[in-house]
Amino acid sequence: MMKNLWRIVNPAPIARYIFPEAVWTTTSGKILITFDDAPDSRTTGKVLNLLDDYNWKAVFFCVGESSSKNPGLIREIASAGHRIGNHTYRHKNLIGLAKTERLEEIMKCNAVLSEITGGDIHLFRPPYGRISRKIIREAANYGLRTVMWSLLTYDYKNDLNMFKFAVRKISDGAIVTMHDHVKSEQILPEGLRYLADWMAYKQLKPGLPEECLK
Ligand SMILES: [Zn+2]
Repeated sequence: MMKNLWRIVNPAPIARYIFPEAVWTTTSGKILITFDDAPDSRTTGKVLNLLDDYNWKAVFFCVGESSSKNPGLIREIASAGHRIGNHTYRHKNLIGLAKTERLEEIMKCNAVLSEITGGDIHLFRPPYGRISRKIIREAANYGLRTVMWSLLTYDYKNDLNMFKFAVRKISDGAIVTMHDHVKSEQILPEGLRYLADWMAYKQLKPGLPEECLK
């Protein structure tokens, strides 16, 4: 019961209190846009074009397995000036895994992404937002900083009204989570336009990943 409640009010202030080692908001006060579950051959190109329209630089948390199948998309994301983060190899809930499996999920994703991009990976986001102190520490041992979020857009529900409702709660320093995945494909163009308009109305500025995650 409590567990479900914890997820509905995601992320509850208590989560930030329990896991202060994870990043929940930006250091610059600007807005950081993040995309989970990348890459997806049906959406990544579209997402990149949309981000280009608004001149936003985002963090893409990539799944190792789909990255190894679509290395070209990872290179496109990186060469467009976005940051690549680790979202594990197979997108499993790490909480339910034994240590060796858990480490393999993190390590294997890092290996794939490093090989494709030719650089080290420094950012990590666990699937389903399920974290523990242990996971944060283990990720840190691989040089990864755990980046959570302060605003989940519910874009994956594919309901524009729900997305707008979520976005209207945006405030200074928000880390916004969206999905580079077919499940949110339909609402992405209008959703991002709404987000851009709402940010302008609230006088919130998008920030570069490096200035937001100092
Ligand atoms: Zn995910």
